[in-house]
Amino acid sequence: MTINPGDNTEKELLAGILLQLDIAAFEYIEGKLIPISTPPNWFDELYLLNIDHQHKSSEYLLSEAFPFIENFIYDAKNIWQCSNQQPLRSGLWSECLDDLYELNLEAIAMKIGNHSLLLIANETSHFELRRKVYQNARNLALKNERLESSIQLHQRQLQQQLEKLYKKDNSFDGVDDDIENESTAVLICRHDGSVEVFNKALIDIYAMSEETRLSEKSLLKKWSEEAERQYPEIHRVLQSGQHWEGEFETFDNNHRKKWVRLMIAPVFDQNNELEHYICVANDISNIKLSAKEIELLTQIDPNTHLPNRRSFWNYLTEQIDKSQETGTSLALLYLDLDHFKQVNDDLGPEQADFLLNAVANRLKQCLKKQDFIAHLGGDEFAVVIKNIVDQQSLSKIAQRIRENIYRDISFGDFTLNVSTSIGIAIYPQHGLKPNLLVKNADYAMYHAKEMGRNQFQFSSPYSKRHIKRKIHIEQGLKSALSNNEFKLLYQPQISLEKQGQHRIEALIRWHHPNHGTITPADFISIAEESGIIIDIGRWVLETACKEIKSLNKKGYSAKISINVSPKQFKYSSIIDEVKAALEYYKVDPSQLELEVTESVFLDDLEQVIKQLELLKGLGVTLALDDFGTGYSSLNYIKQLPIDILKIDRSFISELPFNRHGCTIVESIIAMSHQLSIEVVAEGIETKEQLEYLRNLGCDFVQGYLFYAPLSSEELISLYQSLQPKQ
Ligand code: C2E
Ligand code: MG
Ligand code: MG
Repeated sequence: MTINPGDNTEKELLAGILLQLDIAAFEYIEGKLIPISTPPNWFDELYLLNIDHQHKSSEYLLSEAFPFIENFIYDAKNIWQCSNQQPLRSGLWSECLDDLYELNLEAIAMKIGNHSLLLIANETSHFELRRKVYQNARNLALKNERLESSIQLHQRQLQQQLEKLYKKDNSFDGVDDDIENESTAVLICRHDGSVEVFNKALIDIYAMSEETRLSEKSLLKKWSEEAERQYPEIHRVLQSGQHWEGEFETFDNNHRKKWVRLMIAPVFDQNNELEHYICVANDISNIKLSAKEIELLTQIDPNTHLPNRRSFWNYLTEQIDKSQETGTSLALLYLDLDHFKQVNDDLGPEQADFLLNAVANRLKQCLKKQDFIAHLGGDEFAVVIKNIVDQQSLSKIAQRIRENIYRDISFGDFTLNVSTSIGIAIYPQHGLKPNLLVKNADYAMYHAKEMGRNQFQFSSPYSKRHIKRKIHIEQGLKSALSNNEFKLLYQPQISLEKQGQHRIEALIRWHHPNHGTITPADFISIAEESGIIIDIGRWVLETACKEIKSLNKKGYSAKISINVSPKQFKYSSIIDEVKAALEYYKVDPSQLELEVTESVFLDDLEQVIKQLELLKGLGVTLALDDFGTGYSSLNYIKQLPIDILKIDRSFISELPFNRHGCTIVESIIAMSHQLSIEVVAEGIETKEQLEYLRNLGCDFVQGYLFYAPLSSEELISLYQSLQPKQ
């Protein structure tokens, strides 16, 4: 069956199936998600709740409505580009319809024929069912715990009772009757192991027959041998006349494996000589068996042995319910190791597991037993603290965690330091529902990363807004190019030497449909992180070349410089791209300049210098931007094939009043001139700055004192007013 067959019966059938399965289905066509049939009601409700502007029913802005699947769609594109790919599943994520109703959704990307499909399935009922199973398992675990402690209590009472009986007349005569109907197994033997009394419960545990009864004789020996595997100290404890208790695996006379809980108490005669042992035992195989199942169901993380994500959610939900009942608060700390992906790639999976284990142990060490620690997967951990919620104490705890994790972790002959970013959210201030609390702790964690990592942040409206905006920016960037949302502005640089001569710097602006104009400071680093900067850089290059060509056509000769990100040197064939653009737009290479910042040289100085020389070979000129802000030393400038050096605004703004700043600017200009490098001063705002720079012999100035960045139209008007046509 095809997806859009034009045959109404088949369309109806497909729509019916999707509705029955509770699935919203979309086809991805030219960057848009078009619904295949009317989505279920929950989907529209959720979509309208999340999107803050009117939507066209033919096209859904899913990335904007559901930040969670934004990244998923990004990965999905790989599936959609190739045929014969397995469907890609996002795993469950949850969305709140309102305060009471939470949906558990899963996105699935697949390719059928030529159709790229995105399905969003409502898994709430399955999820609820699983949640109930986990809940029951936890309840069972609690019951088991209670049962175990009641067995322990009963064993102790029974043993004390038997000891009392013995002390009456220094014998166990007549004790048979007392233990006959006891459900706990009892064995009383002499210090050499020979049996004095035992009851029916012991026969039951060990499936003893009349013929094998004698083997009880060696039971004490058998027990201590079996228990020794788990409790090496048992012999020492018994020999020193102390009382011992524990759980271990044993085999009955039919060679069936069983778990017993055993208590052995030595009995001394009047001369304080070891005379007897009272042994009491219970078969706890059932408890152990269900504990194993529970462990599987509740799933402990197999590497770190910490509760996993599932247990974390259950625990958090439970504790929030409790806090709500009792009117108390709780704190959630959300941890994410910094640069773990890199560490993982460098170390390999085994060492990375070792590192995660080390982190888990450090967390256990620096937190109290009653604090809940979970390993949520990957490099994420969570801590729930119930009794402390004031910010000062939590700060101390977060600081302690941060410092402890950061300590050296040794891997044989080398050591490593990993830092953590921590987000903290407190119930009820930062969220009444587990979902919201986790989201806010996660935003705060993200904020800590933004602030430079290796630190903690509390949830705040600011962190939430800030990160939400960042996420929106990340999402928006992906479609900004295809939606034509970028523009270049042009800021002239005036020559102080030769009147009328000038250069122009192209500066990018992003006109976001919802957020208005966004300046490069707010999106370039994000574009660099995600790699989109390569496409943006190519667009800037082409647009600048187009502008040069169009100015040339109008009779104006212009030299335009464009900013090039270090990522373009690292991950794109910048040389071929520049060459192709110059050729395509028929631009004289001397009319184009590339601005690079010092950070470009951080990677591989020799390699970058080679690339720069190849670029120069094309005939373009090169400028070193923001000089003075990085690792710059005037010395290494000599090695670089640059024509222009741009002094960063931060130095210019201090002129001419800061002596230190003046000296720096003065020596930069003098040194550059010695190397035949021209100097541009950025960010000139006052006449005093201009005069000072003129006196130092600065070549070009750029700043609001002359022109702010201008649109293409404004630039042409400026040319018309200043420069007669050539
Ligand atoms: P930049 O290359 O150093 O550009 C100069 C910045 O200073 C521009 O900011 C400009 O608008 C601003 N500016 C110019 N004169 C003055 C002044 O008198 N006072 C003040 N306060 N500011 C002034 P903008 O356009 O926001 O760009 C910021 C940075 O973003 C640029 O610094 C550049 O590093 C980067 N950038 C801009 N466009 C692009 C681009 O197309 N690609 C790449 N990779 N980066 C770009
Ligand atoms: Mg620049
Ligand atoms: Mg600059």
